[in-house]
Amino acid sequence: GRSWHLTARPQGWPTPDDFALREEPVAAPAEGQITVRNIHLSVDPYMRGRMNDVKSYTPPFKLNEPMDGGAVGVVLASEADGFAPGDHVLHGLGWREIATLDARQATKVSPDAAPLSAYLSVLGMTGLTAYAGLFEVASFKEGDAVFVSGAAGAVGSQVGQLAKLKGASRVIGSAGSPEKIRVLKEEYGFDAAFNYKDGPVAEQLKEAAPDGIDVYFDNVGGEHLEAAINSFNLHGRATICGMISQYNVTEPTPAPRNLALLIGKRLRLQGMLVADHKALQPQFVEEVSAWVRSGELKYDETVVEGIENAVDAFLGMLKGENTGKMIVSLGE
Ligand code: NDP
Repeated sequence: GRSWHLTARPQGWPTPDDFALREEPVAAPAEGQITVRNIHLSVDPYMRGRMNDVKSYTPPFKLNEPMDGGAVGVVLASEADGFAPGDHVLHGLGWREIATLDARQATKVSPDAAPLSAYLSVLGMTGLTAYAGLFEVASFKEGDAVFVSGAAGAVGSQVGQLAKLKGASRVIGSAGSPEKIRVLKEEYGFDAAFNYKDGPVAEQLKEAAPDGIDVYFDNVGGEHLEAAINSFNLHGRATICGMISQYNVTEPTPAPRNLALLIGKRLRLQGMLVADHKALQPQFVEEVSAWVRSGELKYDETVVEGIENAVDAFLGMLKGENTGKMIVSLGE
């Protein structure tokens, strides 16, 4: 099977030259293992951080070895109790066509309960990030005005809709194209949305949220975070989920320059990692899958076909080519 290797550590924006698609021998499963043919691969912003050789919450990718990441696939061969050929599983050895892994690292998923790609998106890691980040980390409560950046992406689109479903007084989103702004307002039900490329974020936010905001879900950092701090009401709360505007910069960015406002407004800025919120998983799946079934929660996926296009999908996601979750599909 083929797998993607990182061949050089990118400085600033990664380029296709930093990666190579290579043929790997497939190991037969040992006792307790399964061999899986991947059907959908996840490409995610955090993977950019793993391309740097720095200590972080996830270890860096090793050069000239297969990269890893979320994937769903079908079991081809099994030496593990409870797993049979034909079963579908969610696991962590993405970026490749075929994977042999310990069955303990795999979770069975049902293609009858939801489309398989949904286990990487609305019912998967990005979905839980939105759910935990809004309800647990930001302590969202009914009547809050919520601002979310990266609002047309996988996490952001779910944050805004969850806030509406739970009684937000107003939901404001920002994203990077006119079409995304249309989707936010017309399809996801945001009360207001603006294109951050159209002008200063602080001014656009003030116009979109004249009565201020109570919760900010930050996927972007920098100027967006500074604008949110300006617009916060007393006791505002921010979930610091991601700072994608800074993942490819080579110089530190100056914003936010207004942290002194935290004092008088008694603001709380709280970082999060989705891995800390696994206990919410059953409640999350139950509640969100019901909203998906009833049509109250919409989700999009931008699907790129073929393992050979996985790096382009990853780079495209960093540049905003996706609406909803970016998925690489290898075919059933
Ligand atoms: P998205 O689906 O939102 O895709 C990334 C989006 O970021 C792009 O579509 C693009 O949309 C936007 N973007 C890129 N560059 C910039 C920029 N300079 N300024 C503003 N927006 C930009 O990805 P995810 O939903 O998977 O992730 C969203 C965020 O959540 C990321 O920051 C990620 O790192 C973080 N995250 C954190 C987790 C945690 O546990 N802390 C877990 C999962 C995700 P546009 O066209 O609008 O620019």
